[in-house]
Parts: sequence; C-alpha cells; structure tokens
Amino acid sequence: MSASVLYAGSFDPVTNGHIDVIRRAVKVFGGVRVVLMVNSQKKYLFDLEERVSLLRESLGEDTENIEIDTFNGLLVDYCEQNGIYTVVRGLRAMTDFDYEFQMALTNRRLNSKVESVMLIANANYTYLSSSTVKEVARYGGDISFMVPSCVEKRMKEKHESGEL
Ligand code: ADP
Repeated sequence: MSASVLYAGSFDPVTNGHIDVIRRAVKVFGGVRVVLMVNSQKKYLFDLEERVSLLRESLGEDTENIEIDTFNGLLVDYCEQNGIYTVVRGLRAMTDFDYEFQMALTNRRLNSKVESVMLIANANYTYLSSSTVKEVARYGGDISFMVPSCVEKRMKEKHESGEL
C-alpha cells in the first residue's frame, strides 16, 4: 500500500493526541504516511532514531496502512519527491488556527499542488502538546494520561538521568 496523505511533525515525543490523529487519518483516507521532520534550527529532546522507535512502539501491532518516514527539509519538497500532495494536520483549538492557516497558505504558495486538511483533535487531548508533556515531565509530574506508556518510561529515564 502506498499512502495518499502525509502527517508530518516533530513528534518530540509522540503523544496520545498524535496517535489519535494518525488513527483518524487511516479511517478517513484509508492510510497515512507519518513523516518525522528534522529541522536543523530546532533542538529536540529525542533524536530522530528515538522519535521513530517511540512512534513505532506506540502504534503497537496496529500498523496496517501506516507508513513511517523521516525527512530533513521542507515539507513541500517531500511532497514533490514522493508524489503525495495532501497533508493532514491536527487542529486542537482556535489557538492552533492562525499558525496552521499560515503554514497551509505558505505551503500552497511554495507548491500549489499541496492541499492541507485539518482533522479536529479528540476533545480529551485538546490541551495536549509535546511541549506540555516535556514541561510536566521535567518536574516529575504525571504524564501517564498524555502519552503512550513507552514514551512515559523513556521520559522518566531522561528525567532521572538529568537530560530533562
Ligand atoms: P510541529 O513541530 O509541526 O508542531 P508536532 O509534532 O508538535 O509538530 O505536531 C504535528 C501535528 O500534530 C500538528 O498538526 C499539530 O497541530 C498536531 N497535534 C499536536 N498535538 C495534538 C493533539 N493533542 N491533538 C491533535 N493534534 C495534535
């Protein structure tokens, strides 16, 4: 199977909100390619390899019609190189809207074939972001309801070793 839509992001780390969008994308589009992006300007808590393995582990056995890839560069270039022009994004609240609107129009300006599709996040996860997870974990707070258990375990290890 070759997915017809992309879901790109940092996934640093993957949260229950991301998993929810992935499952929704499979339901709506029949499949999805999740692309973990590398941006040289960004400082990540988890390196690319770890982000990929946490995503794989979080998805468990249920990976039918889900592909995983990585990319260092502009999303529109990934689209062109792979012939996939539909990009799925998760919309949590109005606060996401401005940013997503700007990104969608920028991507369209860069490549008019690229369409952005917003999927409304699960109401249980509208408050949830990778940065919130990192912030709570940094002070040893409970993140078990925000992330898959493998992520919780790795975050705990990072906290205990002083990396977080
Ligand atoms: P980026 O670096 O692009 O912000 P993220 O990994 O933070 O990457 O997010 C990737 C996508 O997932 C974005 O479309 C974002 O809006 C969406 N997203 C993040 N958290 C959630 C959530 N809790 N529920 C639904 N969508 C989410």
